[in-house]
Amino acid sequence: MKIGIIGGGIIGSTAAYYLSQSNHQVTLIDSGIGQATSASAGIICPWFSQRRNQDWYQLVADGATFYRQLMQDLSNDGVTQLPFEETGVIVFKRSRQLAEKLLQMGIERKEATETIGELYLISPEQASQIIPGFETTQFGMYASGGGRVDGAALVQTLQQEVLQNNGKVIRGQARLLSLEPHPTLEVNEETFGFDQLILAPGAWLGHLLEPFGIQVDIRPQKGELITTTIDADSSQWPVTMLVGESDLIPTSNGELIIGASHENDKGFDLTPTTEILEQFLTQGQQFLPSYHIEHATNRIGTRAYTSDFLPFYGNLPNYDNIYVASGLGSSGLTSGPIIGYHLAQAIIQSSTYLFRTAFNPKRYIQFS
Ligand SMILES: Cc1cc2nc3c(=O)[nH]c(=O)nc-3n(C[C@H](O)[C@H](O)[C@H](O)COP(=O)(O)OP(=O)(O)OC[C@H]3O[C@@H](n4cnc5c(N)ncnc54)[C@H](O)[C@@H]3O)c2cc1C
Repeated sequence: MKIGIIGGGIIGSTAAYYLSQSNHQVTLIDSGIGQATSASAGIICPWFSQRRNQDWYQLVADGATFYRQLMQDLSNDGVTQLPFEETGVIVFKRSRQLAEKLLQMGIERKEATETIGELYLISPEQASQIIPGFETTQFGMYASGGGRVDGAALVQTLQQEVLQNNGKVIRGQARLLSLEPHPTLEVNEETFGFDQLILAPGAWLGHLLEPFGIQVDIRPQKGELITTTIDADSSQWPVTMLVGESDLIPTSNGELIIGASHENDKGFDLTPTTEILEQFLTQGQQFLPSYHIEHATNRIGTRAYTSDFLPFYGNLPNYDNIYVASGLGSSGLTSGPIIGYHLAQAIIQSSTYLFRTAFNPKRYIQFS
């Protein structure tokens, strides 16, 4: 079977990776412009969110657990530089009581989700022992199962595996030509027809389907962060989720990521906002006063949101051979791989596959 995938972010690349291990002919097409996955901070620690939606919680908790399987699968394929690391995460709160409440929630959730790992309350003094030079008055909660992933490295690794498995990866902007009887598209002035098509173009799903009179409940959100260099080896530090938007995410190459912003009024704009980036630098310096932090680069991407902030994935309504996935929001690096895996399984296992009804695309898609 010929399978096309539009979008080489975390969903499309994971789906392409698993599909390329089957006997199908896989073609992944990605423009790369504004990709959320490559811009992301990479925090994988979904268990302490205050969101109440249980379906969403189950998805992101399963997503965090799935990272272990994905890394194992890549490792079995001979990948040695795995882009996900279980570094531990400290989630800070404004008061000791709030940190204790979070710890209690973590202990309860751990009964169903082993991946959370060990949980401890962290005092400001303990925080500066774990991260030398870190200064705060906040209490935190440490979860050893939390981690970080390099989104850009992960999609690159997955796409390399697709190529190794004789799949195709095309850089370019795809335009859908028809949805039936078979989906066809044009990219780089070439036309392709497929038996099955996955649309995983993030915030751009509406643009792809609009010419067919299909409206999608998706809005773009600009996200910015900075990568900095620091005069210390921060590579073994845990991720710190601070009160507010400035999280500190150490990377294995010694850089420190600070961010990220959530800007709802900027559309698909990808230009850096000086005030936001300076604010991240100032806040980073405030928590790490004894280091010299130098702003190195900006990373900017566009997240996709639905009006109820839930993601969706499954069949495009009325089309058995077209799948859609989008709306992953701020936690999409966590839920993306498992969603990509489910989409691949739906194609491999054909009509026997059942998607979770909570994320049915029907609610977000209208035909005019
Ligand atoms: C600054 C920032 C920080 C974040 N931090 C975290 C975090 O710490 N933890 C977490 O879990 N999540 C985080 N996220 C969210 C997460 O990155 C996204 O939800 C997730 O990566 C979305 O993946 P996706 O595959 O749906 O879309 P994307 O990664 O956006 O990929 C879609 C791809 O499709 C391509 N495309 C679109 N239209 C076409 C077309 N017509 N033809 C060809 N290609 C096309 C785009 O160029 C893009 O490359 C963050 C996001 C941002 C922006």
